[in-house]
Order: sequence, then C-alpha cells, then structure tokens
Amino acid sequence: MAFKRSGVRSPSSPYSQLRIRKNIMAIRKILRAGHPLLREVSQQVPPEEIRSQEIKKLIRDMFDTMDAANGVGLAAPQIGVLKRIVVAGFDRSDRYPELKERKMEFRVMINPEIKILNGDYEGFWEGCLSVPDMRGYVERIRNIQIQWFDEKEEHHKEIVTGFDAVVYQHECDHLDGILYIDRLKDPKMFGYNDELDLADSQDV
Ligand code: ZN
Repeated sequence: MAFKRSGVRSPSSPYSQLRIRKNIMAIRKILRAGHPLLREVSQQVPPEEIRSQEIKKLIRDMFDTMDAANGVGLAAPQIGVLKRIVVAGFDRSDRYPELKERKMEFRVMINPEIKILNGDYEGFWEGCLSVPDMRGYVERIRNIQIQWFDEKEEHHKEIVTGFDAVVYQHECDHLDGILYIDRLKDPKMFGYNDELDLADSQDV
C-alpha cells in the first residue's frame, strides 16, 4: 500500500538498514495493474517452508522493494511471487499528515487470515504500489481479527482497528487477486494524485 509521495525518502525498515549499509539490497520489480499475476490467488506457504532460505530471501527482497518505493505494505504477488506473504510497517509519520504521531510496526505476515468483527465501515484514501501515482476512496471494515505466522514460524492473533486494519485488508486482498480499485466506493473518487491535490487546493 502507498500514499502520495512527499518527496521525502522514508527511513528503511529495520530489516533493510544493515543491507543498505552493505549495499546489498535487492529491489524487485513491482508489477502494475494489468499484469495477470496480480489477479491470481496466491498459495499458502507450507509450515515446513516458512523458515527456509528461499522464504527468508523473499521477505528481505519484499522489505527492500517496499522501502525503495516508499510503501507501507507489500504483498508477495506484487513482485510476481504467488505466495501468501505480506510485509507492512513504517516509522515516520511526517510523510502522512493525516496520520500524525502514527507509526506502524514492521511485520511479516505469512498465511494471514482476516476475520471480520463487526459491520462498521471506515473510509480512507488508498494508494497502491501496483497502481502508481493514483489514489481512490475505499470503505473497509473497521474492526478485524487477523492471525498469521511470522518469519520464525510463531503464530500471532490480534484485534486491529483503524488505519492498520485498512493496510492489512488492502495487502491481504492482493493475496486473493483483488486490488483496491475493485472496491472503490465511487469511481469518481479516484484519480491521479496531482490532479486530486489540485482539485483539493481549489476546493474552498
Ligand atoms: Zn496494493
């Protein structure tokens, strides 16, 4: 998931800091809407593979790619790998004025499963690294329960609300071949960031 760029380079996730210093980042190409792999349903990662070298490398590549693109979340199919893995998180709030004082814990979610807790919806302008330079207004369930395995094969279960719930739902949608543009509340509330910013600034 992404928001409009502010031009400020985001600090990297803890997963990538050492790799930047060593200059060994592996930034993968992010597929854009229209690529058929973004519409596929991804496969569960078998438990015995969670701690494999292949999955470790994939997770590193996903963080490197998300950091380089200033994203707050990335799902494996966005780099062409049809496995149910999501990375998410950010640690600077000044890029997101609407989220003052906010941070989002860096997380690796393998085989995540979302359970809807109630029917309240909350709207948010979403962006996506696979739909660059655009954003659209989407309403999603406000309260969810999410469970997943981390990269150490530890199981987590958590109740999540608000912005974090939006990010997890957006990323988990990718694992089922769904993009946020499929969920637009109103197709008119969608467009290029610079045009929407211009319209906002003239809307007095
Ligand atoms: Zn996305």
